[in-house]
Amino acid sequence: MKELKSFDKPVLITKPLLPDLNEVRLLLENVWSSNQLTNNGSMAQLLEQEVSRYLNASHLSLFSNGTIALQVACKVLRLSGEVITTPFTFAATPHSLAWCGIKPVFCDIDDDTLTIDASKIENHITDRTTGILPVHVYGTPCNVQEIQRIAEKYHLQVLYDAAHAFGVEVGGKPIGSFGDASMFSLHATKIYHTIEGGALTFANKHMKERADRLRNFGLLSEESVMEPGTNGKLNEVQAAVGLLVLKMVDSEIENRRLRVERYVNNLKETDGIRFIGKVEGVRQNYPYFVIRISSQRFGRSRNEVYEELKKFNVFARRYFYPLCSNFKCYKDLPSAQPENLPVATAAAEEVLSLPLHGRMDMADIDHICDILTSLKK
Ligand SMILES: *Cc1c(COP(=O)(O)O)cnc(C)c1O
Repeated sequence: MKELKSFDKPVLITKPLLPDLNEVRLLLENVWSSNQLTNNGSMAQLLEQEVSRYLNASHLSLFSNGTIALQVACKVLRLSGEVITTPFTFAATPHSLAWCGIKPVFCDIDDDTLTIDASKIENHITDRTTGILPVHVYGTPCNVQEIQRIAEKYHLQVLYDAAHAFGVEVGGKPIGSFGDASMFSLHATKIYHTIEGGALTFANKHMKERADRLRNFGLLSEESVMEPGTNGKLNEVQAAVGLLVLKMVDSEIENRRLRVERYVNNLKETDGIRFIGKVEGVRQNYPYFVIRISSQRFGRSRNEVYEELKKFNVFARRYFYPLCSNFKCYKDLPSAQPENLPVATAAAEEVLSLPLHGRMDMADIDHICDILTSLKK
């Protein structure tokens, strides 16, 4: 067998979409001549309209990042006491609850899609439960119908962490139209970004009005302050960049689709590697390409594969390991015990995100797959 070469340069998990610098300059000239750099200026207002249009959302607010957006959403939905969420997510999900004085309650996930297992949510409901915070992890929609049914039965609010799900649709409906509110992260590592940024979509205009106030210190006017707000404003420079990046999203999604297809074709026959389950009738956005490695069948553990790939200059990521329920700040919660989370615990040991962006060479994907399959024992 021929020796597999390592990549000359490190292959990282992704590359951000970067608009043409000349176009950035043209837009920034407008910002400079306006002398308004922030405080809901014309770029931020225009971007709010454009993102609303892209996401087909009637009530949308932009924020300086997704985490502050999640925290504002907790206030808008008046979440308190306990909120049921998933441990298989980024730290920002449970942390946003904790920052608002809310106890995260971890519910196990579905083995196929790795989203919250809706059939286990009801077991966690107590008289302190006020809401559910599910995550459309890797852009895969949660079981939105079943979650809605539970929320209605128990009068709970539903706040979706849609950080990964920009542009996803289910049965022709935009992902942000489910639940009471959804949060999209517009961070540079996400499929659509404003360098740092976030967006909330709401079920009605009163919620948006309140979110707009809360992101601006709770000010109603110069003289009247309604409630303790925060500073969550998106500035004009980032909004300008965001306007240009938005025009690149559709082709990025299509280019990623082709690259994911390539990965899948290369890897589908390899025993011990499986993919994340798909949901019927979904317009996907391909934010990550994730495989699950069964150490028994592949002959090597995910951690070994992760380390071996580094030797070839391939930097995969173990999203999401460790589980949030294993963080020091949450591990003593009753719901954080591994016995409560067998599916999430197993998944966290098996998942590996491989490098993906829309401009990746197909030959590089083939080479990563050759390296990967050569590791099988
Ligand atoms: C990125 C991410 C966030 C946080 O978004 P920021 O914009 O980086 O603050 C929240 N939840 C999940 C699941 C994420 O991946």
